[in-house]
Amino acid sequence: MTEGRPKVVVIGCGFGGLEAVRVLSRGPVDITLLDRTNHHLFQPLLYQVATAGLSAPAVSAPIRHVLRREIRRGNLTVLQGEVTGVDVAGRHVIVAGAGPGEPADAIAYDHLIVAAGTTNSYFGHPEWAVHAPGLKTLADAFTIRARMIGAFEQAERSTDPAIRARWLTFVIIGGGPTGVEMAGTMTEIAHHTLRGEFRRIDPKSTRVVLVEGADRILGTFVPELSERAHEQLSRLGAEIRTGCRVTGIDADGVTLQRRDGDTVLTERVEARTVIWAAGVAGVPLGRALAEATGATLDRGGRLVVEPDLALPGHPEIAVVGDLAAALSYGKGEPKPVPGLSPSAKQMGRAAAANLLRRLRGEPTRPFRYVDYGSLATVGRKAAVVDLGVPGLGAVRFAGLGAWLFWLFAHIYFLIGFRNRLSVMLDWAWAYFTHERAARVVAEPARETAPSGS
Ligand SMILES: Cc1cc2nc3c(=O)[nH]c(=O)nc-3n(C[C@H](O)[C@H](O)[C@H](O)COP(=O)(O)OP(=O)(O)OC[C@H]3O[C@@H](n4cnc5c(N)ncnc54)[C@H](O)[C@@H]3O)c2cc1C
Repeated sequence: MTEGRPKVVVIGCGFGGLEAVRVLSRGPVDITLLDRTNHHLFQPLLYQVATAGLSAPAVSAPIRHVLRREIRRGNLTVLQGEVTGVDVAGRHVIVAGAGPGEPADAIAYDHLIVAAGTTNSYFGHPEWAVHAPGLKTLADAFTIRARMIGAFEQAERSTDPAIRARWLTFVIIGGGPTGVEMAGTMTEIAHHTLRGEFRRIDPKSTRVVLVEGADRILGTFVPELSERAHEQLSRLGAEIRTGCRVTGIDADGVTLQRRDGDTVLTERVEARTVIWAAGVAGVPLGRALAEATGATLDRGGRLVVEPDLALPGHPEIAVVGDLAAALSYGKGEPKPVPGLSPSAKQMGRAAAANLLRRLRGEPTRPFRYVDYGSLATVGRKAAVVDLGVPGLGAVRFAGLGAWLFWLFAHIYFLIGFRNRLSVMLDWAWAYFTHERAARVVAEPARETAPSGS
């Protein structure tokens, strides 16, 4: 650290925070990067950990290792800790004590970039969380994987047909990309991976039910691609319920409602394994920051930011990534920026560049999001792709070609050569054998949450 240099604190080393640090480390600043975990996580492949296709190190990497070059430059300190609040007047962030009874730390800043992302949101029903884990962190993925694999084991043990059927029913709530990926993969596991491994149950009798509140799955894609995804997923064997609202989740299953004209129809699906892929909201730190600065939170708990990604009245604080309710200032009317990894990366870079501009006494620039398109995989040889190609307009395709495109795009964007190689090998093996590389789980935890690797 160099005395007298402006101090920048970056909270969160997801896609947004990582890119911000990479840009800032070349500038005349001293950076402290704080994350509550020790790893950067490639969330787009997290469902592969949850469904035993990949192990945790394939989709995550230690932050220190990812940023080793920047650390060697001498102006970056990486610290693991949970930021619990920001003292805006005193310009320091508060980091929870490292162990029981240990005091909280105060870390001073001149400039702050907040890239803390989102957490699962249960639409006002936090009590559902225990029955229906969401998928945001590695710990979530381990929980889901243990429940999914455990469900087949319990079904094999059970002699009661009703109980067995409950263990062999999986409900996934939310028909966005994560829900669709989970449903497709779970169907394949039941139909192919587990074939011939059980004596008392036929894994093929497994029901995978995907529930979506809107009238189509993959609602952010054009209707034609939603339809293609629906067809592909049904062909794999999943049951898809669109236009269905979840009204209850308990240890034995879910209660659904849908409207048929003026009539409200209620359906009960008995299931031991329920997965929540329906909603996220800004992390609690967003609310703390809104209270400290007077900034506005949108309905999803995201902080409304200025065109240059700073908080209103606080040019020293920028918010990027999923936690920011930002607009893109391109041609025409400003458009909302989607909660995706490319937008988080672009915001991270833009906020860092604006910070360096401000230090040079230059005006900041409004954020402009460059949309390269969207991809979603449905299962083996099934995916949908919607690309914006300069000069060609929208290029849309589905099926095997889209699946190969999805595969290579995800391998390309993974952090680290080792991860790319290991994912490529695991997927090639799985393609020919239907095997899944990470099916071993620790014995069920008795007092603590499930863990694994
Ligand atoms: C299952 C899943 C699948 C997805 N699939 C895709 C996809 O296919 N394509 C796509 O483009 N996008 C996808 N996304 C969305 C994409 O991952 C997010 O848009 C992106 O991660 C947002 O980046 P971020 O930096 O804002 O937040 P994150 O990547 O979530 O990073 C936030 C970081 O902040 C840390 N943090 C949070 N709170 C604190 C605190 N109080 N103190 C310290 N550290 C804290 C967290 O540990 C984390 O490292 C997916 C998301 C999920 C969950």
